[in-house]
Amino acid sequence: MLIVMHHSATQRDVEGVKSTIVKMGLKPVAIPGAERTAIGVIGNQGWIDDAQLRGRKGILEIIHVTKPYKLVSRDFHPSDSVIRLGGSVKVGGKSPFLFIAGPCAVESREQILKTARFIKKLGIAVLRGGAYKPRTSPHSFQGLREFGIEILDEVRKEVGVLVVTEVMSPEQVEMTAEKTDILQIGARNMQNFDLLREVGKVKKPVILKRGLSATLEEMLSSAEYILLGGNTEVILCERGIRTFETATRNTSDLSVIPLVKRSSHLPIIFDPSHATGKRNLVTPLSLAAVVVGSHGIMVEVHPEPETALSDGPQSLHFRELERLKKQLDALIAFMKTKVMLM
Ligand code: PEP
Ligand code: MN
Repeated sequence: MLIVMHHSATQRDVEGVKSTIVKMGLKPVAIPGAERTAIGVIGNQGWIDDAQLRGRKGILEIIHVTKPYKLVSRDFHPSDSVIRLGGSVKVGGKSPFLFIAGPCAVESREQILKTARFIKKLGIAVLRGGAYKPRTSPHSFQGLREFGIEILDEVRKEVGVLVVTEVMSPEQVEMTAEKTDILQIGARNMQNFDLLREVGKVKKPVILKRGLSATLEEMLSSAEYILLGGNTEVILCERGIRTFETATRNTSDLSVIPLVKRSSHLPIIFDPSHATGKRNLVTPLSLAAVVVGSHGIMVEVHPEPETALSDGPQSLHFRELERLKKQLDALIAFMKTKVMLM
């Protein structure tokens, strides 16, 4: 950490900051300059909590050199993490591109069964479907909750697909982990730290979605909570962020995909449905995700999007999913042989 003092800071201010650093168990090294003094801090093993320094008289800026995460960083774990999701399905590193598809919400046994059978026929191994739904309005459909989890459990056994579903609170984690294959932490809960700690205790892969307006550093710091608890099976998910643009539901930040791959060993996938909010943008953005090196995509699809209880406008029809799968397969084959980006 580097502390830059104001040019008007007095020697007393500098000494005060230095003694606080010593009280924190660290060593201050003053670096006097022509205009102002800077104080380097050494002796730390990782991230320093700067709470005792913030707001102190004479300080202009506190610069953190060490990142607020360690376990998720490539410095700590140089090779790509490959996460086994169940059966032979894996994600990360050189694993085949992961395709997840399913409705926004579990609405009925019939809807889930139909969708599971259809995606299985296309060669898509993982079904998504929310039972606990985080909805903006309390008047909107809130999900089938425990009953929805039972439906997912029955259908995964009957059809032979893996299932991912969202958990919204720590109490839901244990039961959901028993009855599904992958847990999801939604954008709205990316910084629900008790929930992160709870999923850190289970042995189940977790898809951690980027918060509505979270920075890359905040997303990786949230993943750090899960790894710190002992669960290293975290898959990051870019799902668009909120900007001034209203033409799309969110703004797709595809640049975080190569950025994450540089700074972390964890796999990262892309959700074009929530990133765009528009069915006709799902295919182009899915293809773009392949090109920038995403490890997979998660797409919403519904047997009858017009009647969907949530996110119908961004859900693909079955025929559109089939077409997307073919286009993705062709693009991935092209990338592998001709571009060799992956
Ligand atoms: C979802 O995937 O069902 C969902 C609610 O998405 P997000 O948390 O990204 O908004
Ligand atoms: Mn949705």
